[in-house]
Amino acid sequence: MIMRMSQLFVRTLRDDPADAEVPSHRLLVRAGYIRRAAPGIYTWLPLGLKVLRNIEAVIREEMNAIGAQEMLFPALLPKEPYEATGRWEDYGDNLFRLKDRKGGDYLLGPTHEEMFTLTVKDLYNSYKDLPLSIYQIQTKYRDEARPRAGVLRGREFVMKDSYSFDIDQAGLDRSYGAHREAYIKIFDRLGFDYAIVKATAGAMGGSASEEFLARAEVGEDTYVKCSHCTYAANVEAVTVRPPAARETDGLPSAHVEDTPQTPTIGALVDHLNEAYARADRPWTAADTLKNVLVMLKHPDGRREPLAIGLPGDREVDAKRLEGQLEPIEVEPMDDVELKKHASLVRGYIGPRVLGEESTSGIRYLVDPRVVDGTSWVTGADVEGKHVIDLVAGRDFTADGTIEAADVRDGDECPNCIEGTLSSARGIEMGHIFQLGTRYAEALGLQVLDENGKLRTVTMGSYGIGPSRAVAAIAEDTLDEIGLCWPREVAPAQIHIVAAGKDAGIFVEAERIATALDAQGIEVLYDDRAGKISPGVKFKDAELIGVPTIVTVGRGLADGTIEVKDRRSGERTEVAVADAVEHLVDLVRG
Ligand code: ATP
Ligand code: MG
Repeated sequence: MIMRMSQLFVRTLRDDPADAEVPSHRLLVRAGYIRRAAPGIYTWLPLGLKVLRNIEAVIREEMNAIGAQEMLFPALLPKEPYEATGRWEDYGDNLFRLKDRKGGDYLLGPTHEEMFTLTVKDLYNSYKDLPLSIYQIQTKYRDEARPRAGVLRGREFVMKDSYSFDIDQAGLDRSYGAHREAYIKIFDRLGFDYAIVKATAGAMGGSASEEFLARAEVGEDTYVKCSHCTYAANVEAVTVRPPAARETDGLPSAHVEDTPQTPTIGALVDHLNEAYARADRPWTAADTLKNVLVMLKHPDGRREPLAIGLPGDREVDAKRLEGQLEPIEVEPMDDVELKKHASLVRGYIGPRVLGEESTSGIRYLVDPRVVDGTSWVTGADVEGKHVIDLVAGRDFTADGTIEAADVRDGDECPNCIEGTLSSARGIEMGHIFQLGTRYAEALGLQVLDENGKLRTVTMGSYGIGPSRAVAAIAEDTLDEIGLCWPREVAPAQIHIVAAGKDAGIFVEAERIATALDAQGIEVLYDDRAGKISPGVKFKDAELIGVPTIVTVGRGLADGTIEVKDRRSGERTEVAVADAVEHLVDLVRG
């Protein structure tokens, strides 16, 4: 079917939508691919739907190729299975909950581990039924706190989610490996630059997990890679390799000193170098231990203060912190809360008033670098005073450690130690998890093994966001004049522009469009007659971003058409007689 611009349900816009934060969002709206229905909720127009379906087709082919079977669950789901796994609560405000006319609780599925697990439990009961991989491409709902950038982070979005079921860990390793390979094929075909990184499991639970991130400045994820080894990880998943604990014997004892007006680390370090200069080297922020207070909001609404101790040259990275604590949400501690704890002196909070056993009773977790035997300058819990030579393990102990400090370019690689880390930003396109037995246990999915004994099934879960991929691919490939799709996902392969008023131009353009269509090549044909100038048509073609733009116009008098590569801008004159063959070769590569 030829798509004709005269008929196609599209209106290209000259102006940027007011709410567009990133280029892909701006262009997808302007070029007539998507329309906003509500915050984070988008309508797919014909061109957008084509791209979405093309992406889904690639995913479907590669999933089928590893023997995964497609099925489809409802989006509207009963509460009970999600209650059994704790996720009815754990999902917190992210879950769309609703009631039916009888008052029964329902939800709009944010992801479907529970439903897949229960269905396998319904139908299977023997190890002989396994391994099994099943998947769906389906609409998901999450009431995201910050929907963003059009379909990049929606509250309604499309996800391909697959799940593997195995009798043991060796089986899960195989299923996970097969999915990983399939994902590599999918992302290679979709034609954008990506990195595979270690990830945290988040609300999913389970152990091993990796993310596929599209490299992009506008991405919300930060990942690091090592200069020396193959280590690559989302910063949320970076675990610092702590230094060895040291002997505390012989270390100078702690002493409280006057440090007037030093509530900030910078002011403190300056003061230390003036008033208490070290013999060996100047004091730096890394010698100080700063204590940051936050409030934790549990899924059940309970609020709890938490203190985090970290070297003064580091900041708390909110995403890393939340990644460790999920599903708990984190907020800064306000003055009202701070005042409830008499022992806390803002700007001078020290470890001695922190910890479950301390006067404040506030749970105290420290950065892994704060090992026993390390000496610190830190708050003395008195306005204008700090304590020097306070030694971990001797003068204070924390309730545990937490990976909340920011990861920096130049940090030591936790894997090989020899290399250093450098960071980049990315968009999470896919996530593969080894779930293990969490869901099978919670929902009682067991099968009989070879010896007739009941065994809990081991699961994996594997997601890709096709709707997010539309935006991510657009973002990766667009240029200053418009979208610029890779062939595999483009809404059409050839965009023919009839440029001029002569009837002969339209006849020839129509002939080429029909011939290409007959060969199964998707054509977008700008057949608009009347007042629409060639200039407007060219601008639209550039904006829409079909990979090859063919102009049938003035050249026709000399028996030629012009073939332009949208990406490189390169133009080729082709004899009319060879046009169809030339274009077919171009598309089929
Ligand atoms: P994020 O960290 O970006 O919120 P997530 O870790 O919650 O994502 P998963 O639960 O792993 O996402 O979902 C699997 C895939 O679904 C993701 O890799 C992503 O491609 C897609 N996805 C998740 N949330 C959204 C969303 N709000 N809008 C569009 N796609 C999404
Ligand atoms: Mg994820």
